[in-house]
Amino acid sequence: MRLILLGPPGAGKGTQAQRLVAKHGIVQLSTGEMLRAAVAAGTPVGLRAKDLMARGDLVPDDLVVAIVADRIDQKDANNGFILDGFPRTVPQAEALDRMLAEKGLQLDAVVALKVDEKILLDRIAKRSADMLARGEAPRADDTPETMMTRLHSYKRQTEPLVDYYSRRGTLKAVDGMAPIPEVAVAIDRLIAAAGNGRGTNRSGSGKSMMG
Ligand code: ADP
Repeated sequence: MRLILLGPPGAGKGTQAQRLVAKHGIVQLSTGEMLRAAVAAGTPVGLRAKDLMARGDLVPDDLVVAIVADRIDQKDANNGFILDGFPRTVPQAEALDRMLAEKGLQLDAVVALKVDEKILLDRIAKRSADMLARGEAPRADDTPETMMTRLHSYKRQTEPLVDYYSRRGTLKAVDGMAPIPEVAVAIDRLIAAAGNGRGTNRSGSGKSMMG
């Protein structure tokens, strides 16, 4: 199974992705996490991404496309994957189309989480507060100011993908403001419908979970 989770920051992509990973034995490919790891390790990619990320701006397409291309070639992604945070621009979506076509792979669904902006801002504030309460450092970009930049980037650069995938017939919308278990049920339903007859559900077969 190959899915894309589409939605603004704080929409719940990460939460749903983790659940789907456990349920279907596929891997979660989060470009945000891969980039944060690169920043933490001080790699050349991390050095290019660090300031842009801290400001809430997107990092260049060529950089993320290269990261994803490497990652989906790794063995643990053979059974399927969920892209979380990628693609984020139309050129990224076009690059993904080319990558998948070269490998003879298809997307099962693009799940768009529909949200209310005011509630989103509250969620992000809560995410930072919760991390602080657990004694973890909040993400450098989880501040109200960068949140506005991130939402702005989303609207300008990522929202056009809703149209992009609607035209291809792969887009499925879900109400991301519903309680987590309800969002989960809605996603499971549409995945089941999209996967019908394609035999893509390999639940339980994977020894290839992400660490
Ligand atoms: P969010 O909660 O904002 O969706 P992510 O963890 O997905 O956060 O991403 C954090 C940051 O990493 C983004 O604000 C951006 O700077 C960078 N980033 C992640 N994925 C991409 C991408 N596909 N293209 C460009 N930049 C990205």
